[in-house]
Amino acid sequence: MAEASKQDLIMGVDLGGTKILAGVFTPQLKLLQSAKLSTKADRGFAAVVERIARCVSDAVDEADATLKQVKAIGIGAPGAVDPESGEVIFAPNLKWEKAPLKAELEKRLGIPVFVENDCNVCTLGVHEVELKGKPKHMLGLFLGTGIGGGLIVNGQLYGGFNRTAGEIGHMVLEVNGPKCGCGNQGCFEALASRTSIFRDIAKKIKDGGKSVLPDMLQQGQQIADLKSGDLRKAIRRGDKVVERVIEDAAEYTGIAIANLVNILSPEVVVLGGGVMDALEDEMLSIVVETARDYAMPGTMKNVEIVGSKLGDHAGITGAAVLARQNGKF
Ligand SMILES: [Zn+2]
Repeated sequence: MAEASKQDLIMGVDLGGTKILAGVFTPQLKLLQSAKLSTKADRGFAAVVERIARCVSDAVDEADATLKQVKAIGIGAPGAVDPESGEVIFAPNLKWEKAPLKAELEKRLGIPVFVENDCNVCTLGVHEVELKGKPKHMLGLFLGTGIGGGLIVNGQLYGGFNRTAGEIGHMVLEVNGPKCGCGNQGCFEALASRTSIFRDIAKKIKDGGKSVLPDMLQQGQQIADLKSGDLRKAIRRGDKVVERVIEDAAEYTGIAIANLVNILSPEVVVLGGGVMDALEDEMLSIVVETARDYAMPGTMKNVEIVGSKLGDHAGITGAAVLARQNGKF
């Protein structure tokens, strides 16, 4: 691609528990090329760093560019991140503790690297690219395997005292609710994430609920191995078990948003993540209605609740925004 032949470039990397996605961007945040690689987290930290570097090189090569043109790399990593040191403090689905991601990757690539929590990064991407940086106060909410969020306050990503703000998935919505991965009970994530949705559907089917999902399984697959898109197909085929669980998840999402709107008064709430991308038509209107029901009178005035259009690209886009904000050009 001639466009990438000589100019400065930035890169955004979305590091997930199962896959790594790397995108090559112009400094104006136009995506030129991307590459994907499995994470293979079970091979350990050093091997994953190696794979990130390989994915970065692959994307650069796809763009007919060289690593020398890349001026900064942003990375969204799952879990608790110290953006100052670039250390991943704790990432349960990678089994990392105190992992010096910035230092190791800079050593390997010789390019400045900036690390942030993945949901903060997605929020940055939505704010800067999708909403053109316009809303002063915005909330990003991502429903996937887990639930995470990010806050934009006064136009900036808000980290708070410990730089851990935005852990929206662990807001307790049911004091005696199901157990959460964090050790608590009744967190939003334990009620409306992909994991909890499949847990509830599997239980209803086990208890005799009639669903089309068992017929959709390939040999050796379990209900939890299906994708969010399969849930949409099931609902469209009239599956009441799936519909009910998705309605409940949408209601909990609405209640979570009502709480957050009461506290933060954002101008826009943007919803993304695999569950929301696949089931927006089924969930969004229930989310909006429930949020309006539960929020304090007056607090929802002119507040928009919308689905993100960035889909799978939210992570790499936001990571490129992070690189642009921190890199020197
Ligand atoms: Zn929790």
